[in-house]
Amino acid sequence: MKSPLVLELKGNSLDDGPGIRTAVFFKGCPLSCVWCHNPESKHTEAELSVSLSDCIGCGTCKKVCPQKAADLAQQGIVDRAKCVRCFLCTESCPPKALQRVGREMSIEDIVKKCAADKPFYEVSGGGVTLSGGEPTMFTDWVGELALRLTEEGMRVHLETCGMFDYEKVRGKLLPYVSSIYMDVKIADREAHRKYCGVYNDVILENLRRLFADSGEMGFSLLPRTPLIPEITDTDENLTAIMRLYKEIGITRTELLPYNPTWYGKTEKLGVSVPAELEGVRHWQSSEKLEHCKDIFRSEGIDC
Ligand code: SF4
Ligand code: SF4
Repeated sequence: MKSPLVLELKGNSLDDGPGIRTAVFFKGCPLSCVWCHNPESKHTEAELSVSLSDCIGCGTCKKVCPQKAADLAQQGIVDRAKCVRCFLCTESCPPKALQRVGREMSIEDIVKKCAADKPFYEVSGGGVTLSGGEPTMFTDWVGELALRLTEEGMRVHLETCGMFDYEKVRGKLLPYVSSIYMDVKIADREAHRKYCGVYNDVILENLRRLFADSGEMGFSLLPRTPLIPEITDTDENLTAIMRLYKEIGITRTELLPYNPTWYGKTEKLGVSVPAELEGVRHWQSSEKLEHCKDIFRSEGIDC
C-alpha cells in the first residue's frame, strides 16, 4: 500500500471544512496548476525549502553538506543540481532557514494526534480534513486512515481536485467521508490542460458522479472555484461553470479569492514563478468578488 508524505497537520483550522478541524495535508498532486498556492504539495517526494530571509550567514550548511551543494557564496545558498536531499543541513541550520518539506507518519500517529482535539470537533461540528496535494493519489492508505478516524468517532472531510479513479475512491474512501469540497477550476478542456496540466474530462465526470452519489452515500458536496486573475475569474469561465452546475442540478458553490501569498513559498523551493502570474501579486477587489458571485446568484445558485 503506497503511503504518502505528510506536509503538515494543521490544528484549529476554520477554513478546511465545517467547524473546527485538524487538516492533514498530503504531498503529491496529479494536476500542476500554474497558480498552485501550496507549491510544496505538488510532488510526492520530500523537498528542501530554503528561506533566504531567515538565514543568519553562519556557514554551518557548507560544513555539513556531503555534496558541496550548500554555500553562502552562491545565489540561493543551495545548488539544487548537486543537492541529493539528504537533509543533513536542515538538522544543523540554527534558525531553520533550511527545512525538510514532507515527512512520513503512520496512520495511528495521525489518528492519535487528531483525537487530541476531539472535544473541539464535538462542540463545533468539526472533525478531520484530508487535503493536499491530492489525498486520492493514495486512496488505499487514505481510505484506511478515514476508516480509523471514523472508528474513533471523528467526522472526515475530503478536499479534492476531482482527478481520481471514481470506482476505487467510491469503494475505499467515500463510505467514511461526511463532506467534500471539490475544485472546479476551468470549464474549457483546452484551457484546463494549459493551466492545470491535464484535461478536465475525468474531473467533470467525477463531479457528476459525486453529486449523484451524495444523497445515497450520505455526504455533502460543495464545488469551489479558486479565482485566479484573468485565468479562472473571467466572465466566460465562471458563466460556463455556472451553466454546468445548472445542468447537473448543483445549487450551492463557493468562490475562493485569489491568495498571492504563494509566491514566497514557490521561491523557497527554488521554482520560478510562471510568467502569466508575475504581474498579479495582489488581492482581488471586493467589487470584483461581488461581480463573480453575481454570475452564480443571478441564476439562483447560492454563492
Ligand atoms: S539536503 Fe543534503 S545535499 Fe542538499 S544541501 Fe542539504 S546537506 Fe547538501
Ligand atoms: S546553516 Fe542555515 S543560517 Fe547557517 S548559513 Fe546555512 S542556511 Fe544560513
